[in-house]
Amino acid sequence: MPRPIRATIHSAALHANLERVRRSVPDAKVWAVVKANAYGHGIERVFEGLRGADGFALLDLGEAERLRELGWRGPILLLEGVFEARDLELCSRLGLWHAVHCDEQIDMLAAHKTQAPQRVFLKMNSGMNRLGFAPQRYRSAWARLDALPQVDEISLMTHFSDADGPRGIAQQLERFNAAARDLPGERTLGNSAAILRHATDTQVRADWVRAGIVLYGSAPDFPEHGAGHWGIRPAMTLATRLLGVQRLQAGDTVGYGSLFCAAEPLTIGVAACGYADGYPRHCDTGTPVLVNGVRTRLVGRVSMDLLTVDLTPLERAGVAAGFGSEVTLWGRAAGGALLEIDEVARAAGSVGWELMAALARRVPVAVD
Ligand code: PLP
Repeated sequence: MPRPIRATIHSAALHANLERVRRSVPDAKVWAVVKANAYGHGIERVFEGLRGADGFALLDLGEAERLRELGWRGPILLLEGVFEARDLELCSRLGLWHAVHCDEQIDMLAAHKTQAPQRVFLKMNSGMNRLGFAPQRYRSAWARLDALPQVDEISLMTHFSDADGPRGIAQQLERFNAAARDLPGERTLGNSAAILRHATDTQVRADWVRAGIVLYGSAPDFPEHGAGHWGIRPAMTLATRLLGVQRLQAGDTVGYGSLFCAAEPLTIGVAACGYADGYPRHCDTGTPVLVNGVRTRLVGRVSMDLLTVDLTPLERAGVAAGFGSEVTLWGRAAGGALLEIDEVARAAGSVGWELMAALARRVPVAVD
């Protein structure tokens, strides 16, 4: 018998989250960011829910190819551009737009004359200090690209480092504007956090936004609010079933390392999910879990294939639980109860992005 764990991708939630983005930034075109196999959801599985986007943004040429095979004829943007010259051939063949963030990429374009006209997004490092041209080098990079006959359109791009944090976006916007001020071309600036938190800024609304995590139902790391507060719905449910029940006496411990010790008699459920499924091992006693839709807590250490949960809240609520009972690790339980992935992520000292992307290949996935 296969293990009962499974993930479900909710197409309607993806669609609704995309609409939510559009309501925030009605004038902007929306890149649906589907890098890392659509944040662990699977490109093929999210395609239906997100096909209303204006374009898809990703990193991997193989994933871009899959989108074309699925029938997507619209824009696809390679967020980190090309890595070697032969990638340019594939960009031409698949009609990809690509970011240009360094001199080496301009050199490749310059040396590679036979390709079809290229549309590029010139990336500025306005403060993230990962990829991109420094503001003082931006205009010369633009001029180099503009001089290449094989480049037919140059758009402008930067990425915020703290749109969901206390620093906000003002300083990066200032640097971007100072260096890019009168350059022609479309702009793409905002990520999910900027879309939610800085949507009133006309520049965030400009031309294109790049929506990632918000589409999948996690609100960028705002400790004070959950995704529900922003009107965002979980696009993935990870659920499993109980394989067993144990009755502990006071002083009994649970799992490896005997990390949890019962202070009084306690009934626990043993669920078929572990870190080999992508569930974070760092989740500790207290991490929220739903059993038969009732909110309870994980107890003891997460092991490779199993985790253990406290059934006391179910006993108090008069809800029976035993072999086969539904356990929701994140997402929506059968009766509608909701457990946001961000809550689980916080308990693991992580973020929704990491939990989604870590979903293991062995977990069967369905789309509803
Ligand atoms: N744009 C770029 C360049 C990115 O690297 C990412 C993701 O890390 C995004 C947009 C989407 O970010 P988010 O998932 O926060 O919306």
